Amino acid sequence: MAIYTPPLRDIQFVMHELLGAVPQLNEMPAHAELDADTINAVLEEGGKFAAEVLLPLNQSGDREGCTLDRTTKEVTTPKGFKEAYAKYVEGGWPSLSTDPAFGGQGLPHLVNQCFFEMLNSTNQAWTMYPGLSHAAYDCLHTHGTPEQKASYLAKLSSGVWTGTMCLTEAHCGTDLGMLRTKAEPQSDGSYTLTGEKIFISSGEHDLAENIVHLVLARLPDAPAGSKGISLFAVPKFNVQADGSLGSRNGLTCSALEEKMGIHGNSTCQMHLEGARGSLVGAPNKGLSAMFVMMNAARLGVGNQSLGLTEVAYQNAVAYARDRLQMRSLSGPKAPDKPADPIIVHPDVRKMLLTARAYAEGARALSMHTVLQLDRELKHPDAEMRQACADEVALLTPIIKAFFTDNGWIATSHCMQVFGGHGYIAQSGMEQFVRDARINMIYEGTNTIQSLDLLGRKVLADNGKKLKAFGKRIADFIEEEGTNEALQEFVNPLADLGDKVTKLTTELGLKAFANADEVGAAAVDYLRVVGHLAFAYLWARMAKIALEKKDSGDPFYTAKLATARFYFAKLLPETAGLIRSARAGVAPLMALDEALF
Ligand SMILES: Cc1cc2nc3c(=O)[nH]c(=O)nc-3n(C[C@H](O)[C@H](O)[C@H](O)COP(=O)(O)OP(=O)(O)OC[C@H]3O[C@@H](n4cnc5c(N)ncnc54)[C@H](O)[C@@H]3O)c2cc1C
Repeated sequence: MAIYTPPLRDIQFVMHELLGAVPQLNEMPAHAELDADTINAVLEEGGKFAAEVLLPLNQSGDREGCTLDRTTKEVTTPKGFKEAYAKYVEGGWPSLSTDPAFGGQGLPHLVNQCFFEMLNSTNQAWTMYPGLSHAAYDCLHTHGTPEQKASYLAKLSSGVWTGTMCLTEAHCGTDLGMLRTKAEPQSDGSYTLTGEKIFISSGEHDLAENIVHLVLARLPDAPAGSKGISLFAVPKFNVQADGSLGSRNGLTCSALEEKMGIHGNSTCQMHLEGARGSLVGAPNKGLSAMFVMMNAARLGVGNQSLGLTEVAYQNAVAYARDRLQMRSLSGPKAPDKPADPIIVHPDVRKMLLTARAYAEGARALSMHTVLQLDRELKHPDAEMRQACADEVALLTPIIKAFFTDNGWIATSHCMQVFGGHGYIAQSGMEQFVRDARINMIYEGTNTIQSLDLLGRKVLADNGKKLKAFGKRIADFIEEEGTNEALQEFVNPLADLGDKVTKLTTELGLKAFANADEVGAAAVDYLRVVGHLAFAYLWARMAKIALEKKDSGDPFYTAKLATARFYFAKLLPETAGLIRSARAGVAPLMALDEALF
């Protein structure tokens, strides 16, 4: 079985030493009394839940998968999943960061995000059941009617019910404007929905009493395209006036998808036939209402890959210390043994350090962003809330796409460290690779995230959000301009900042002449800006590590070495990416379609 130690020390480092999160959270009335000890204690318990309850079910859940009873249309999750979910609910974990008005504990999203990183490390497939409930809760909390809030929020908050997002249909995934599911208004103010959805994560399962599906559908008089989409809450069991469960609603799982990874999560084809639902938000404004859920889910998907990167790293390091193969090129390092442990070989170290630098960089950026999300939602100053909202909007596609691309690279590297044993199921490594692959696809593919970043968040906004983030970086560079010891980090950071500014201007000008230039450059561009964000946070982490390296705590020695590795070995890929982005659209469009 794979091993896992909750990375509490690093989480605490980012939370308290890098971000100084507690004083920032205390500025908000809702978190005025929160202290570091409480946060640390919650996460310590959360880490135990992940390592002791979820990890033992990860491999068995992958092997067993979910099963559909074709007669009853009920889905059974792998052995142990239901009991683990009951423990999760019993422990009060679903309500960690939900609103006290609906039975929540009201802790910051930041704490929940760290908890979910650990859940993702130990069992991504299981974690998708409660993960989607959180996103559904957020959507209904923002856009639900008072009746919908009364019916659903306390149940989602406690975890007694779970949630899903039902967008995709066979002929449309990215282009939701083409969706066909119909919603007919009824005389009592409700709607009946008819259609077929595919690929619906956690669409049917045996973990909870009820499932609240948030379904995109089209009203009879809806305009064509994405301006004619509405959002509906459609429960598995109808909810009666007194809140109790009524009749079975007309939506069922017609098939389970066979897939590459996350076998423990049910990916359902959902058949809607006269399913009763209620409208969420305004008619034809469903996509913007759904964006609350999609943005939460995008941060969640980035967090999935952070979790997988961390657990893959931990297992690869343990193996590399233990596995004896060949002698070091520079002479034996373990002369008492028949060969050296493979951790002596430079390229094995490169693979391990890549995973480590991506995990720690991602943790820092993810926690930075979710702290801004908490401030966006709860800061008393309206201007500050807007500034935080802008930063979260800019960083969300980066977290989704950059983390998941890196997660794929990192889990693959960690599998490689195991040699052939990594490819064999027993080691658990190939499961991490398979599970990581979907993260680049769902919640809007990484290409779509890149288009969102470059097209919408940067160019359509005249670079305003990017400039605000750049100002953070420029301030740090200015503050540390005379700090000799930090120049090895500050100089490349400043250099990349200048290059991003120039590249953005160049792409903006090219896009005026040919909009396809955006599509040609976007994926490279997102990776470059992702590295800029990582370099900024790695430089700040290096500063702290330099200040504390003589404390005798090896944590800081390791942090500094990892920062140096990141700047020396990973950041330089930006030069190639910038060249590729600048090469433009011509090499992509030159080949006639018929000649492919
Ligand atoms: C395991 C799994 C779980 C899922 N869970 C859910 C869920 O819970 N709820 C839900 O609603 N959906 C879910 N999905 C669906 C998922 O979100 C979609 O598969 C995804 O958004 C892509 O849509 P598609 O598969 O139709 O691909 P398409 O939209 O057909 O895209 C195919 C390719 O074309 C590219 N492409 C499309 N348009 C453009 C463009 N304008 N520019 C450049 N490239 C473009 C895409 O990036 C992609 O590479 C899930 C899918 C899977 C496999």
